[in-house]
Amino acid sequence: MYLYSPLMKFDMKAAFVKDSSKVVVEDVLKPEMGSGEVLVRMSACGICGSDLEKVYGKYSQPSTRLGHEPSGIITDVGENVPDFKKGDRVFVHHHVPCYSCHFCQHGNETMCKKYSETNLSPCGLAEEFIVPEWNVSHGGVLKIPDSMSFDEATMIEPLACCVRSWNKLSFQKGDSVAIFGVGSTGMMHVMLSHVHEFQKIFCIDVNDFRLDFAKKFNITDAIKSSQPELKNKILSETDNRGVDIAIVATGNLHALSDALDLVRKGGVVMLFGIPSTGAILNVDMSMVYSKEITLFTSYAASDADTNAALNLIASSKIDVKKLITHRYQIIDTPKAFEHAHNGADSMKIIITN
Ligand SMILES: [Zn+2]
Ligand SMILES: [Zn+2]
Repeated sequence: MYLYSPLMKFDMKAAFVKDSSKVVVEDVLKPEMGSGEVLVRMSACGICGSDLEKVYGKYSQPSTRLGHEPSGIITDVGENVPDFKKGDRVFVHHHVPCYSCHFCQHGNETMCKKYSETNLSPCGLAEEFIVPEWNVSHGGVLKIPDSMSFDEATMIEPLACCVRSWNKLSFQKGDSVAIFGVGSTGMMHVMLSHVHEFQKIFCIDVNDFRLDFAKKFNITDAIKSSQPELKNKILSETDNRGVDIAIVATGNLHALSDALDLVRKGGVVMLFGIPSTGAILNVDMSMVYSKEITLFTSYAASDADTNAALNLIASSKIDVKKLITHRYQIIDTPKAFEHAHNGADSMKIIITN
């Protein structure tokens, strides 16, 4: 928690998780800036599934900080910041790895200790926040082109997480994919499937709003997960093989179970959504073995992924604007979280300032 004392002068608002399942907007002290740091006025910050998991679920990495997808304008720079100036329009990545440890050297930057230690102060869902020196000097602050809106820039982080997961997969042009859970990141996977020239794209969800939303994106079929014909529909469209790739963009393990069932022999399942701590899946491992299924997981994004995502948005290959369905002011952050948690009618909800 960001430290403050009642005797201090409060001069900005920031959102935190309080107790369990509660989001509060508090008046906090404007953070003081040190050498090598920059102060950013947040313009837009998306609410992510991992934020919701921190508030309403059992996230395995407990933190009271909310918001890690902020874009905004640099309003002050500390000493020794050669690359940025006041007025720069930026996307800020909250975590930056060390680039030298065993994990980093093996391409597992998001497993690096430094990666999880680095963070924004007080957090991304604040009127203003400090970016630590390490992030500023090691690729954690990305200037965005004038043509890119702050709304688009707040989508860099979630898209980067999707890009990272795709970089782990091998596939061919014309392949088939099933995406389980078509919330905003699931829809980014749909868009990336088009970028990679997939021929068959199946979207599976429990939510009718999302299925109808997905249908507008030139997909093969949008199927309700409870539908008994789910398997037959996919088999009939894939020469009875099943899909080449199944992406599970939900923490619901029923979807993972369906993915293992519907992926073809030799296929790949990507667990992208965040299961709750302690979530257990009963799986017939002989089926996994005999089908020669590869299971990948992918956590967060590195600097290379955020740059790739920025370029996909800047070059209009991915139109993230289509995914933003609701905007709330920072003071209404608790309402926005309620909406994201309970609302069946939303894709990406962003907080603006
Ligand atoms: Zn996120
Ligand atoms: Zn490292």
